[in-house]
Amino acid sequence: MNYDGIVTQDTNRDPPAPQLCCGREGFVRIPVLTDLLDVLLPRLCVGCGEINHDDTFLCGACAEGLKQCRLSPGAIPLNGLPVIAPFEYEFPVSAIISTAKFRSMPHLFRPLALAMYEALVEANLDGYPQVVVSVPLHPSRRRERGFDQALYLARLVAGYLDRSFCPRALKRVRATPPQKRSNRQQRLAALHEAFGPGPQAARVEGRRVLLVDDVVTTGATLEAAVQALLPQLPAGIVSLVAARTPPPDTCAAAAGSPGADVSSADVSAADASTAGPPGGGPDNRCIADKRQS
Ligand SMILES: [Zn+2]
Repeated sequence: MNYDGIVTQDTNRDPPAPQLCCGREGFVRIPVLTDLLDVLLPRLCVGCGEINHDDTFLCGACAEGLKQCRLSPGAIPLNGLPVIAPFEYEFPVSAIISTAKFRSMPHLFRPLALAMYEALVEANLDGYPQVVVSVPLHPSRRRERGFDQALYLARLVAGYLDRSFCPRALKRVRATPPQKRSNRQQRLAALHEAFGPGPQAARVEGRRVLLVDDVVTTGATLEAAVQALLPQLPAGIVSLVAARTPPPDTCAAAAGSPGADVSSADVSAADASTAGPPGGGPDNRCIADKRQS
């Protein structure tokens, strides 16, 4: 993947999506107009916030930082659930995700979605996913944010995979408060029966499911979503996220990273203290936990 070309249209596998250019959503590339906008409205790097003269979302330094956040290939078991993530939730990944979510710039997720697809391929699963499902936001949160980030990522990944996407296999039946400072047990309690089967739930029966979310911290949200899917008897479930919060020993460094606006995110580097170390080695099972709730 060429992170320098983070602008979009980075692959022919892209599913239909908004056409973008020069980091300003909605603008058509017209040289004179672009030059004028550079003067009136300088492009800022999404990561560090500095003026960026390149035709990308990230300056060169932040693009290099993105490469440094790449995780080793393979699924990591998180409380029994195999989870694949291309990136550690550190700067500039944290800044990209925060900006995308809280400034309603979903197109910034596009390079992360491509990296997720690559990480899934690199994980070399025993059984390839047959259907893609996203962890849904509650409708009230979705209205507030303007879009559902997991749905956006899942739709892109399904396009890369050429697999069907079932955005309504799960539904959020109960809104939950922000979990930033909650530990795993508190999160599990808050998320109890927060998800339920949606109108497309039957489409996961007997199929290997790829469950997509943006960030994993303790794994409680993914676990709650899995519990809601299991009664539909999927053949297996593996989770794919854009970023994983770092192990506790790297929290301090991540929190001190420039531009790491984790305070406004659903997760923060500090939450990693409750996540526990990833532990274990690569686990390529395409699931496996067939417990019935
Ligand atoms: Zn930068």
